[in-house]
Amino acid sequence: MNYLSTRGEAPSLSFTDALIAGLAQDGGLYLPEAYPRLSEREIAGFAGLPYGAVAQAVIAPFVGNALERKALRAAIETAYASFDDAAVTPLTQIGDNLFLLELFHGPTLAFKDLAMQFLGQLMPQVFAARGKRATILAATSGDTGAAAVAAFRDAVGVDLFILYPKGRVSDVQRRQMTTVAAENVHVIAVDGTFDDAQALVKALFANKRLRDEFALSGVNSINWARLVAQAVYYFVSAVALGSPRRPVSFAVPTGNFGDVFAGWIAKRMGLPVERLVIATNANDILARALATGRYEIGAVQATQSPSMDIQVSSNFERLLFETYRRDSAAIRRLMSALRQTGGFRIASEPLAAIRGDFDAVRVGEAETVEEIARVWRETQKLIDPHTAVGVGAARAALKAKPQVPMIVLGTAHPGKFPAAVERATCIVPQLPPRLADLFSRQERFEVVANDPAGLAAYMRGRLAASKRAAS
Ligand SMILES: *Cc1c(COP(=O)(O)O)cnc(C)c1O
Repeated sequence: MNYLSTRGEAPSLSFTDALIAGLAQDGGLYLPEAYPRLSEREIAGFAGLPYGAVAQAVIAPFVGNALERKALRAAIETAYASFDDAAVTPLTQIGDNLFLLELFHGPTLAFKDLAMQFLGQLMPQVFAARGKRATILAATSGDTGAAAVAAFRDAVGVDLFILYPKGRVSDVQRRQMTTVAAENVHVIAVDGTFDDAQALVKALFANKRLRDEFALSGVNSINWARLVAQAVYYFVSAVALGSPRRPVSFAVPTGNFGDVFAGWIAKRMGLPVERLVIATNANDILARALATGRYEIGAVQATQSPSMDIQVSSNFERLLFETYRRDSAAIRRLMSALRQTGGFRIASEPLAAIRGDFDAVRVGEAETVEEIARVWRETQKLIDPHTAVGVGAARAALKAKPQVPMIVLGTAHPGKFPAAVERATCIVPQLPPRLADLFSRQERFEVVANDPAGLAAYMRGRLAASKRAAS
């Protein structure tokens, strides 16, 4: 299986090359040449299987012969052994035909662990097979960084540098990054916003000399392997409710469009998905785009669901590429208009195709609080504000098709965002016992000025020190 760039001007790559590259050299995102299709019998056969077995069946066709089957199986088994629920992603009912898929049982309590734990097994193997040490560099608004630190701590042959905006991530998120004492983990607070941190990372990746010097690799949500790993739980949960005999719909709290695009991949692979509901907070660029056909960047607003406070949904480019029938010249035009004018119009045929699969619902701040309170009142379950945006959108979408089961993706544990949960329910959600001492652990981080040359110098120093420690 080979992978193509959405912009059509980068070489096509194997699964492992696309895994290491992250972004394509032409600025595009990688997609498979074709989507493997699972038969109804194969999908029906997932019923009752352990999570790892379904993951193997869904992921293997995308890997092709880039990795040995045994190595892939071992990576999957180890990745999901760290979850605190035997089902990995348990499904519960929270209303009439309304279900909650709990994606927060991994080490850092957000769904990012599902993909990142898998990358943490896979990438060191690939670097080792190529005989080179690598540096993973990523900016985070909170959850990705925590998940990456948990996944790559003590990995052999890999150094991890995580940049977060100082004072702009939650205490739990920060401590999950800064309290991990591993020689290969380097957590950096940037004086600035998430966009500043992201711009620093992009500046280093854009510099070929630095890219080669550090052997830079990325793990942000445009990495294709993350999306494939996320397609797995769409199968697991749909089959638990009677698919492929019975179609289901999903409501997905959305920021960068990675998670909900994984649902679209599952549908392309043969899962009978009726509707994919994009749930957005006040940062509603996708809801506006589906309603009006105009994709237009607005100002980022801070909300109670900060992991979705994003205006440019990078992975949306993948859906555009598919709905423009893989016309990479058209995608280059759209992305250049986005850069130059801050927006573009989606042509009528691709817009109709997008509306054929997706709904988009905006859930405001007051409604988010109401939803947390309502779910608590009706089910005695606490949900986090991101999940609440999903539940609000799910209820709105269920009205149109009440007979089709609706699965809401629960993207974070309530204990990760306690302030919003307390505001809605007057209850302070607790962290799971394994994280109970998080606030008494020692923090380690460095503050670095918002400047690419300074960051590169800092990284050189840290790498030299960790080399000395290792020898
Ligand atoms: C990252 C994140 C999201 C958004 O997921 P995307 O794949 O970026 O759309 C939603 N909720 C939580 C808790 C997250 O960490």
